[in-house]
Amino acid sequence: MYLATYRCKKCKFLYIDEQQEKSLEEQDDAKFKCPKCRSSKRMFEKVSIS
Ligand SMILES: [Zn+2]
Repeated sequence: MYLATYRCKKCKFLYIDEQQEKSLEEQDDAKFKCPKCRSSKRMFEKVSIS
């Protein structure tokens, strides 16, 4: 499984796949909301961490 990190463009919440039960890719597009600001999945952008 490919793991990545995503950031909410609105509140900067970091969704780190390793720390979640599911990767963001596997989350339901219609149901997933940012846990902090309730933004939809579309507001998340992939970030690269080195
Ligand atoms: Zn957010």
